[in-house]
Amino acid sequence: MRPRILTGDTPSGRLHLGHWVGSLENRVRLQDEYDCFFLLANVHGFTTRADRPEDVRRDTLEIVKDWLAVGIDPERSTFVLQSEIPAIAELSWYFAMLLPFNRVMRNPTLKTEIELKGLGDHYSFGFPLYAVGQCADILTFRATLVPVGEDQVAHIEMCREVARRFNWTYCGIDPQTVDEDHVRAGGLFPIPSALVGRVGRLPGTDGKHKMSKSLGNVIYLTDTAQEIKKKLSGLYTGRQSMTEPGDVNNALFQYVRAFIKEPARVAELEDRYARGDRLGDGHVKVEVAEAIDALLAPMRERRAALEGEAGDRRVLELLREHTARANALAEETLRLAKQAMRLDFGGRTLGLG
Ligand code: ATP
Ligand code: MG
Repeated sequence: MRPRILTGDTPSGRLHLGHWVGSLENRVRLQDEYDCFFLLANVHGFTTRADRPEDVRRDTLEIVKDWLAVGIDPERSTFVLQSEIPAIAELSWYFAMLLPFNRVMRNPTLKTEIELKGLGDHYSFGFPLYAVGQCADILTFRATLVPVGEDQVAHIEMCREVARRFNWTYCGIDPQTVDEDHVRAGGLFPIPSALVGRVGRLPGTDGKHKMSKSLGNVIYLTDTAQEIKKKLSGLYTGRQSMTEPGDVNNALFQYVRAFIKEPARVAELEDRYARGDRLGDGHVKVEVAEAIDALLAPMRERRAALEGEAGDRRVLELLREHTARANALAEETLRLAKQAMRLDFGGRTLGLG
């Protein structure tokens, strides 16, 4: 049996280059080595879009198309539609009892998101609860590995704490047990690890914040060559002339390293830019745009085949099939968890439509 991966995306928009370097690339690469479960966090989509159900639905379908376009194979990997997996919602409740309230509210990722997304003090009760829900997403599939961007590491740490605490409290695991030995010692949940991508935090085209669906500073995986060029040309570096020594850690050069494939060319660009050797930002931007376009062109092509109503039908069909597959494992985990919690009162069978 292969070890399992669980990771995913929230339908708060379509997928972008940050997703590719932070997580998607690893997902595509690890499909054979791991039994992969990829989550559409559509319930969590409502944490910031409770008043926009149509948008959540549309982006859920769009993300599946993006996944197929980047090379996620629905024969090898399973798509998990969060709203159709009741075990996740049930486990979220039980796990909420294993986490001190203040521990959740201190989570640095939540704090940053509240600030960046301008949620002020009017976010819903469900917003911080999503961090607990995410522990349930991962543990429902008893995943050992979670490929994510850097911003998610704090969430995974919380998930590790929940898994340990569950195993200590309900499975009789000695608190001295090292993480790797929890399952061998009789714990239900493996203690999962985060796998951060090649670039843990890709900046957005504002040159400042993390590239993020909610911030509108993104290059979408579906963008055309022209759109990519235009977005990059607006990237501010603050540099005045091509003879001024440039900062090779600015957003533009993070893109250079992320997307230009030839290491020798990257080194040459870095060297000339740092010395102010007549290398203009405009020139670097064109080269980066070409590299990004070369990456995205085959994705755009695969995605074109999924446009329109026929594409939507194919996606809905896949989701129905995969929901049954995902629920088979999720229900087993829930049954085992409830057994450990002495909540085994006869069990149930889900009528899976
Ligand atoms: P939102 O703005 O709604 O939070 P997002 O753009 O941050 O959306 P998510 O669905 O929250 O996207 O994240 C999905 C996955 O992609 C996570 O593993 C996250 O860490 C990763 N990711 C998102 N943005 C970036 C980025 N700029 N660089 C690296 N990884 C990223
Ligand atoms: Mg995010």
